[in-house]
Amino acid sequence: MITKLDIDQPSCIGCGTCWVTNPELFREDRLNGELKAAATGGMLADQQRLQLIAEGCPTLSILLMDANGTVLFPTAEQRAARSQAVEW
Ligand code: SF4
Repeated sequence: MITKLDIDQPSCIGCGTCWVTNPELFREDRLNGELKAAATGGMLADQQRLQLIAEGCPTLSILLMDANGTVLFPTAEQRAARSQAVEW
């Protein structure tokens, strides 16, 4: 069950999709002058909607976690594929 979300800021490209569409969950952040997303600390009970929101991030930078902090989405395979793509 998803109980927490966060942003993987190194992979976020600051496109703004998440904070424009879901300002209750995300906000703009300036990390060393770079535009990034950050989590507001808000949460939704609707698990399916959270999944759709995370899948809408073009870089899979929205992390969905359970109560133990285990990342449920993106999967380990998806994160590995993204890392390889970044190295191209
Ligand atoms: S949708 Fe993804 S890439 Fe775009 S600002 Fe949000 S976290 Fe960053």
